[in-house]
Amino acid sequence: MYYPEPISKLIDSFTKLPGIGPKTAVRLAFFVLNMKEDDVLDFAKALVNAKRELTHCSTCGHITDQDPCSICSDGTRDESVICVVQDPKDVIAMEKMREFNGRYHVLHGTISPMDGIGPEDINVPPLIDRLKDEKVNELILATNPNVEGEATAMYISRLVKPSGIKISRIASGLPMGGDLEYADEVTLSKAMEGRREL
Ligand SMILES: [Zn+2]
Repeated sequence: MYYPEPISKLIDSFTKLPGIGPKTAVRLAFFVLNMKEDDVLDFAKALVNAKRELTHCSTCGHITDQDPCSICSDGTRDESVICVVQDPKDVIAMEKMREFNGRYHVLHGTISPMDGIGPEDINVPPLIDRLKDEKVNELILATNPNVEGEATAMYISRLVKPSGIKISRIASGLPMGGDLEYADEVTLSKAMEGRREL
């Protein structure tokens, strides 16, 4: 189907978003054309600013607009516990639960030998450095309950175990193969409560 170039470019951009098929992309593109110009400008600015102003916390790897992030720089949080997660979205899911008062470490992925992703390719080395520098007594491994998440948890556990730090894995109240970020707060809270020591 023929579209004027600016519209086909807009459609292409929407197609790049997850979960947006060609039909939805066309619908969204035409929706934007009918929006007020000010609203479109605000939308465009929000996209660009989110990308430009956010960075990764140099301590924990979480997305932030200040470094260190608000969690790492919060003196009321327990610095003796670090919860290790795969993705910044997992930090947000855990924070919604409002029960965990320690700090986080975001791996930005999982170890996946099949895809050639080793520990050095994700945020593991900075975690090991943190454990040397900070007074950490417990590491909670909250990677997703799927093959890569389990393998990553086991790898970190083996690496850290000799240091004597207590290591636990969140309970499997979470559905196997599931994603932490989609777990409801009760399930997530139960998973944290029932964590077992490795
Ligand atoms: Zn941080």
